[in-house]
Amino acid sequence: MYIRDTIAAVSTPPGNGGIGIIRVSGDLAAVVGNTLFKPVSDGGLVSHRFSFGTICDASTGDVVDEAMAVYMRAPRSYTREDVLEIHCHGGWLVVERVLALVLSCGVRLADPGEFTRRAFLNGRIDLIQAEAVMDIIASKSESALQLAQRQREGVLSKRIDDIRTCLLRALALVEAYIDFPDDDLGETDSASILASVGEARSIIADLLFTFEDGRVIRDGISVLIVGKPNAGKSSLLNCLLNENRAIVTHIPGTTRDIIEETVSFGGLSVRLLDTAGIRHTDDFVEQEGITRALAKIPQADLILAVFDASKEFSREDQLILDALGDHKAIAVLNKTDLHQRFVLPCEGRFVALVRIAALSGDGIDVLKQTVCKQFLHTAVTDSREFVALSRARHRDALVSAEQNLQQFAGGLPDSNLELLALDLRDALRVVGSVTGQTATDEVLDLIFSSFCIGK
Ligand code: GDP
Repeated sequence: MYIRDTIAAVSTPPGNGGIGIIRVSGDLAAVVGNTLFKPVSDGGLVSHRFSFGTICDASTGDVVDEAMAVYMRAPRSYTREDVLEIHCHGGWLVVERVLALVLSCGVRLADPGEFTRRAFLNGRIDLIQAEAVMDIIASKSESALQLAQRQREGVLSKRIDDIRTCLLRALALVEAYIDFPDDDLGETDSASILASVGEARSIIADLLFTFEDGRVIRDGISVLIVGKPNAGKSSLLNCLLNENRAIVTHIPGTTRDIIEETVSFGGLSVRLLDTAGIRHTDDFVEQEGITRALAKIPQADLILAVFDASKEFSREDQLILDALGDHKAIAVLNKTDLHQRFVLPCEGRFVALVRIAALSGDGIDVLKQTVCKQFLHTAVTDSREFVALSRARHRDALVSAEQNLQQFAGGLPDSNLELLALDLRDALRVVGSVTGQTATDEVLDLIFSSFCIGK
């Protein structure tokens, strides 16, 4: 439901910063500006022009802060309503005071994501674009940002609209026959209906194929480093991070807790977790570290199993193999600068084997590329047309639409047209929920409640 009252919130992050921005949207935006903001130059607030002045408490006449203000008259604003932004100094206290003054003008504090929700409800953006705004803010890698920007620009929305257009074309023909039940569905019309539905299904299939890549680009992956003590796990972590994050010593058993860092491999966000060396030990603290390391194995997207290639395969290495189960893992043979004694007994169990020397960095680039190759199947290109599904909500809707369409196509031309039309309408409804044409209030609540306040 959309109540057309005026809302306000702090749009900059909490805490102290250079500037703090208070955003106001709704019919009272101009009133708030004229009440609180005193521009140094004559003429008051002009739409889409920044003015410099002060924020004053009208009840006392006190100057609360120096500020810049910009008023954007509807519909040329983020929400398509009248919008006012006050840019004051970024201390939390001054920002809170300005917000309190704004709220005292009869304005309500905005809910999370409410500005973007209004932009959606007023038709400025669709639901995919609203979600993309959230993804832009949360992007952890270049490729995640690039994908979110494409979705914000409407590249994915256009593909969804193409599906809808095909389905609407098919539905129009089907309904024409429902209206005239005495006419049999001719071969030509049956073929055109199937062609339109086939086109829609082919776009859906192409999009579903991109989902795994899109999810990985958006959310990143978690990579767990395991191995026996002294295999070179911490050296590998430092090498991948390009810094001395983990303590490296020749004394076995120094890493006892899990160390976690996020890096980018070729634009892919990778959460690296270095673990305690796995071995039999009586040391209670070390044992706890090993238990934690083992518990992380099922949760990781990929395991880097590090082996010391200068030593023979040992019972401790076997412990690692046993702990891996059938999890996706790359065998990393470290210390290739030393005399090689290691033979891996079950190379075929790994998705790849990479030789490195963590001390010098030899082989690290190949390792990074090998990690990326396990997850990215379609090339992340600079093409303006590149698009991928990246949210389970979109994927689930398209899977459900495909089921309806499969049923529809299987039933034509013999089954009852009225019943078949239900499948087509269901498909249209779920496809429409992706861009928001048919999204319910509950869906909108769920999506926008995960936004931050002020967005
Ligand atoms: P971890 O216990 O598995 O984390 O192993 P560390 O990273 O602490 O390394 C154990 C020892 O192996 C340290 O003395 C490292 O300097 C040494 N080391 C690690 N990688 C290499 C390598 O590529 N070549 C050589 N020669 N030594 C290495």
